[in-house]
Amino acid sequence: MLRTIFGLFSEDLAIDLGTANTLISAKVRGVVLDEPSVVALKENPPQVLAVGTDAKNMIGRNPDTIKVVRPMKDGQIADFKATNTMLSHFMKRCNNGRILPSYPRVIICIPCDSTDVEKQTIRQSARSAGAREVYLIEEPLAAAVGAGLPIQKAGGNMVVDIGGGTTDIAILSLGGIVTSKKIRVAGDKFDEDIISYVRKEFHCQIGELVAERLKHDLGTAVKVERKDLKHVKLQGQSFSEGRPVSFSLTHDDLYEALKSSIRQIIETVLRCLEETKHELAAEVAEDGMVLTGGGALLGGLDQIIRDQTRIPVQIAKDPKQCVALGCLKILNEGNAATYQV
Ligand code: ADP
Ligand code: MG
Repeated sequence: MLRTIFGLFSEDLAIDLGTANTLISAKVRGVVLDEPSVVALKENPPQVLAVGTDAKNMIGRNPDTIKVVRPMKDGQIADFKATNTMLSHFMKRCNNGRILPSYPRVIICIPCDSTDVEKQTIRQSARSAGAREVYLIEEPLAAAVGAGLPIQKAGGNMVVDIGGGTTDIAILSLGGIVTSKKIRVAGDKFDEDIISYVRKEFHCQIGELVAERLKHDLGTAVKVERKDLKHVKLQGQSFSEGRPVSFSLTHDDLYEALKSSIRQIIETVLRCLEETKHELAAEVAEDGMVLTGGGALLGGLDQIIRDQTRIPVQIAKDPKQCVALGCLKILNEGNAATYQV
C-alpha cells in the first residue's frame, strides 16, 4: 500500500546523457524527453536562459552577452557547471507534474573512459535533482542492449556508436566490454569538415546549424550515382566580398568533405578488431556489427564499412534512441548494479 502511494510520487529514470542529445525515459512512460544537450547562459548576473532545443536554436545567433554551450562537447564533460545545470533542468522537466520529484533509481549512460571526477559530477547533479540511487553505465554497453544484441552470451557482439562528439566502438561478450576504442570523429567533426570544405571550395563561411542540415540532407560516405545526385542551394558569407552570396552543393561535395573522417572511423574499427582475441574476432566477422547513434544515419556509412571490413554491417532499428532504450531495458530488468562502472 505504502509502496503504491509512494509510486504516485516517484519514478525510476534512464538517462542517455549524449554529447549532442539527451534522452530521458521513465519506467512506465518510455521516452519522455529528447532534447539537444545545449545550454544558453547570461553571465552578468548569471542566469540560465534556455536549455535544449531553444538553446540550440540560439547557436550562431547569440550576442556576446549570451553564451551558448554544449557542456559535453568532445565526448567528455567540457563544462562541469553547465552539465550540472542541464542535467538537473532536464530531470525536473520529467517530473510529471509532481511538486517534489523523487527518482528512487536513475541510470545514466556516460561516455566510455569518463574520469572519476566526471562520474562524481554526474552523480552529484543527479542526486541534487532528486535521484536517490544513481547507476552509471557505459554508452556502448547500453547501445548494444538497445540494439538487441545478446551481450550475456559468450560470443562476439560488436557495436559502433557514432554520436556527436565521439565514435565508440566496442566488442562485448559475457555481459561486459572486451575491447573498446574511442575516436573524436563523429557528427560534430562531420559538421566541421563541411564548414572547412565550403570555406576552401567556395570561399564562404557557413554556420554550424547550416552544416548539420547539409549533412542530414546530402551527407554521404559513398559516391552517389550521377542520376541520383541532389543539389542544395544555400547562402554563405563571402570572404572576399563580405556579403551573403548563394552557391549550390551536391552529394559529391559532401562525399569529398567527409571522406577523410570516414576513413579514420573505418581504420579505428579495423584496429579494434585486430586487438581482439582471435576467437572473438572470428565470431564478429561472422555475426557482423551494429551501427547505433545519430551518425549511423549518414548515407552509405553502413555500405562503406561493410565493403572495407568485409564484415556484415547492420544499422540498429532506431539508432538515435538505441542507447536510451538500452538503458530503459537495463532499468526494467533490474540489472543496473550488474553493469555499472
Ligand atoms: P550523442 O549520443 O553524442 O548525443 P547522437 O547519437 O544523438 O549523439 O547523434 C547525434 C549526431 O547524429 C549529430 O551530429 C547529428 O547531426 C547526427 N545525425 C542525426 N541524424 C542524422 C542523419 N540523418 N544523417 C547524418 N547524421 C545525423
Ligand atoms: Mg549517444
